[in-house]
Amino acid sequence: MPSHNSSGATTMNTRKFIGKHGGNYVSQKKRGGMGFRDLHSFNIAMLAKQVWRLLSDPDSLCARVMRARYYPDGKLLNAKLKSGSSYTWQSVLAGLECFKRGCIWRVGDGSQINIWEDNWIPSSHNLKIQTPRGTNIVRTVNELINPVDGSWDEDLINSLFWPTDVHCILQIPISPGREDVVAWHHNRNGLFTVRSAYHSQWEYKFERGRTGEASGVGDNPVWDKLWKLDLPGKIKIFGWRVLHGMIPCKGVLANKHIGNQGSCPLCPSGCEDIKHMLFTCDRAREVWRCLGVWDRIEEVLNIDRSGSILMEEIIRIGGKIPALNNVGLVELVLTAGWYIWWERRKFVHGESTNPFHISNVDCSVDYQLHDVLEKNI
Ligand SMILES: [Zn+2]
Repeated sequence: MPSHNSSGATTMNTRKFIGKHGGNYVSQKKRGGMGFRDLHSFNIAMLAKQVWRLLSDPDSLCARVMRARYYPDGKLLNAKLKSGSSYTWQSVLAGLECFKRGCIWRVGDGSQINIWEDNWIPSSHNLKIQTPRGTNIVRTVNELINPVDGSWDEDLINSLFWPTDVHCILQIPISPGREDVVAWHHNRNGLFTVRSAYHSQWEYKFERGRTGEASGVGDNPVWDKLWKLDLPGKIKIFGWRVLHGMIPCKGVLANKHIGNQGSCPLCPSGCEDIKHMLFTCDRAREVWRCLGVWDRIEEVLNIDRSGSILMEEIIRIGGKIPALNNVGLVELVLTAGWYIWWERRKFVHGESTNPFHISNVDCSVDYQLHDVLEKNI
């Protein structure tokens, strides 16, 4: 066990993460990284976070793009997969089921909440009404509220629901003048956290003894490989976002008619999408050439696909670079890719950077990647 643990409790927690993946998680925890033992559940929790972001910041560009294309009625929780859905949207939907199991409506005027299908009963085991709908015609929660005094219509509620539901409903506070809002049930303050979503997903997956869900978009072996890399968490999360097309790029928005020209701020060519930013932009090429891996990148670019697919391919291929102290290609591409992205954001926001001074980047990568980068850029 790591000797620097200061308390027995920490040691116990650390021990829990030593499983089939051996010491890997211990070292991640030591570095303040992610102490999660089931990568699939973690991926799903991260995707559920995207759902939370879309809900809690509906005016963000990303939310506007997604809403315009996939849920124009604004009802994200009811959204479905459509043919031709982007990989990003498929990813959001992969997190949606996890999100829907853990979210709960806080009753405002009740108009958005479906009595029979939505989660809105905090003291119910599945957060839903237990009474079967039968032939009831009432549909939304506002129909249960007395319009005159804004309190629960007790007579109506008693006539519709089983006593256990009646009891639960009458305990719920209502704010008739406000909109209904979605909160996260697993956190007392109602705010989403990846950690609680992870635990909820983990319980759902293992306590129900199911593996059926681990298919399709939620079960990509490349994710597994990514999370196991010995890189700082922020660089892995960057890689994960690239794989899911979740790096905001002007070009992506321009394609969706969000009103911008989609040109690159750093070079005269092309539309600024992930592929351009990381691989084909003049600036990116320069970095890859400096690192001596442009040939390797060019090989991958022969596959005429999106930046996400190219990154996936690089992670799949892997391998070492003998000319650079046998540093891993994946580690190098992700770290330098993160740097390109970071530098670019600084540039776009008008912050000065020292171009190509990678020592600014806190990349405590093994294999002396830091040194390698510093020497070569
Ligand atoms: Zn460019």
